[in-house]
Amino acid sequence: MNLTDSIMRLFHAQGAAAYHGEAVSQLEHGLQAAALAQAEGAPEPLVAAALLHDIGHLLEGQDEDLMEQGIDGAHELAGQAFLASGFGPEVLEPVRLHVAAKRYLCAVEPPYLEGLSPASRRSLELQGGPMSAEECAEFEANPHHHDAIRLRRWDDTAKTPNLPTPGLETYRTLLDALCR
Ligand code: FE
Repeated sequence: MNLTDSIMRLFHAQGAAAYHGEAVSQLEHGLQAAALAQAEGAPEPLVAAALLHDIGHLLEGQDEDLMEQGIDGAHELAGQAFLASGFGPEVLEPVRLHVAAKRYLCAVEPPYLEGLSPASRRSLELQGGPMSAEECAEFEANPHHHDAIRLRRWDDTAKTPNLPTPGLETYRTLLDALCR
């Protein structure tokens, strides 16, 4: 089984799970994020990153419980590790950095923090809160930080109940083409 098959299988098995405190499932959230990326004409690796950015939640399957216990499951690292067998940095880095991008935007753009959903604000605290100036500088030094910020904004928007989107299978060719 190649990585694309593993991804499809994971979404079929776990994708119906709720997206923490939001009115969409994990699969709907990923599909909406990918559709937003495509609507903005994002390059294919970034569309894939949008689709897959929260796959770490599906791997752990239990981090909602962790969050209730006040523990950050670091799903962005679990997701990156899972995807690293097939994808390059253009996919992996925005996935890895999408939580950092939230912490960054909270630091440099105060209205951004105000606009976060209650669940997203709650996880922000577990994730370390807004970045310090030093952390911001380090983040900006990563060549993929702009992509991570774009992904973050789609992530924050991809929470519309019952929004029709293209299905998961429509991304198979794109994912296969990006996999090494
Ligand atoms: Fe997300």
